Amino acid sequence: MITRRIQYEVAGRVVGPMLMSLQNWQADRKRRARKPKENPFGPPFECLRKLKDIMSIHYLKGRYADGAVPVAWVTSGFPVEVLRPLGYHCVYPENHAAICGVQRLTPELSDAVEKEGYSRDLCSYARADIGCVITGKTPVGRLPRPDLLACCTNICQTVLYWYRSLAEYFGCPLVLIDTPYLYGPAKPHQLEYVKDQLMELIDVAEKVAGKKVDMEELAKVVELARDGTKLWGDCLATATAKPSPWTGIDGFFHIAPIVALRGTQECNAYYRLLLDELKDRVQKGVGGIKNEKYRLLWDNLPIWYNTRDLSTKLANEGFNFVVTTYTNAWAEAGAQIDPADPWNSAARSYTYIILNQDLNNRLQIMNRLARTYSVDGAILHSDRSCKPYSIGQLDLKERMSRELGIRVLVLEADHNDPRAWSAEQGDTRVGAFMESFA
Ligand code: SF4
Repeated sequence: MITRRIQYEVAGRVVGPMLMSLQNWQADRKRRARKPKENPFGPPFECLRKLKDIMSIHYLKGRYADGAVPVAWVTSGFPVEVLRPLGYHCVYPENHAAICGVQRLTPELSDAVEKEGYSRDLCSYARADIGCVITGKTPVGRLPRPDLLACCTNICQTVLYWYRSLAEYFGCPLVLIDTPYLYGPAKPHQLEYVKDQLMELIDVAEKVAGKKVDMEELAKVVELARDGTKLWGDCLATATAKPSPWTGIDGFFHIAPIVALRGTQECNAYYRLLLDELKDRVQKGVGGIKNEKYRLLWDNLPIWYNTRDLSTKLANEGFNFVVTTYTNAWAEAGAQIDPADPWNSAARSYTYIILNQDLNNRLQIMNRLARTYSVDGAILHSDRSCKPYSIGQLDLKERMSRELGIRVLVLEADHNDPRAWSAEQGDTRVGAFMESFA
């Protein structure tokens, strides 16, 4: 245990930073030797290197976490603040699955899962994650074995079945926060129901960690989570400027710390850095793309394996995603958490997630974003994997077009599995959409 703890700390404090310095030095040498390619985007972000460093060190530490500290595997919408004061190393299988998606590993991992009897209709994040568990293959070297599985149904019901499978595989406790789906404002008894589960979560999390939650420490983590969420929201809001200093695609990558490191100092330090750079770009009129003519809203998860191709095609014609409902969800959740009243405010905050609200609420959020960011059009990604995010999009398309007078395209794909994406069909549809602006 002591040796393991030393390895864990050394990986995070010494080896990780040294490895990153070496990699950055090598990358600099390669970059200097290469002739820069012409592209329609603005200059790369200076803080991108810091982003890569903190996420790489997080995963490097993770390799040595089991046996050193308690480990929890956590869904993206889980109230992680409760786990941090207990010293948990938190792994986000969705964030890890997105890395698999960017590296186009999902088909191989999914094949392994399908051989075990899981359906290809299951979410491709779940298939990628369970595939990593079965095969041991991962682009991050190794994932630590969980002592606790922490699942919240505020994003979908799939996570419940996914985490039940993991619980069976690892033989460890599974805690569930079940959030009632909202039709309009939450009723008091619904919030009370979520709060009761938060109290039960503490008992299990304390037992597994072998210590009690320090309430002062919890208040500090809650404050960090709230401030981090606000900082992320401030970063997104810089895209109201014309031109927008970044693209929605940049946002999909810069979102990693608020998902996986929420409630930590390093998360907030990173967003302060990013915010300074974004403000500087706004002041100097530097855009996320070089020639912003049309501003778009993106709905749903990104198409991880195709973000560069799609955004380049659009950027070449002056189209920029200035707002995405996905990245915005992280700015809204958590902003309401109050360190002085962590339980009631967390129950409210984690219940009011976009995916846990009915179509009318979603439409209101999307229309508000479209107006705030002055968009000319929208692309709604109909994600084969993410049914809760994609259901009702045809109605949303019709109502957004009518109520806002903007052009809206529904684009079929899958966020992580390239087998459900037809590049030719996608190109044709996006091409026709762009022509309609001429
Ligand atoms: S179904 Fe959607 S919300 Fe659920 S895990 Fe998959 S991508 Fe996330």
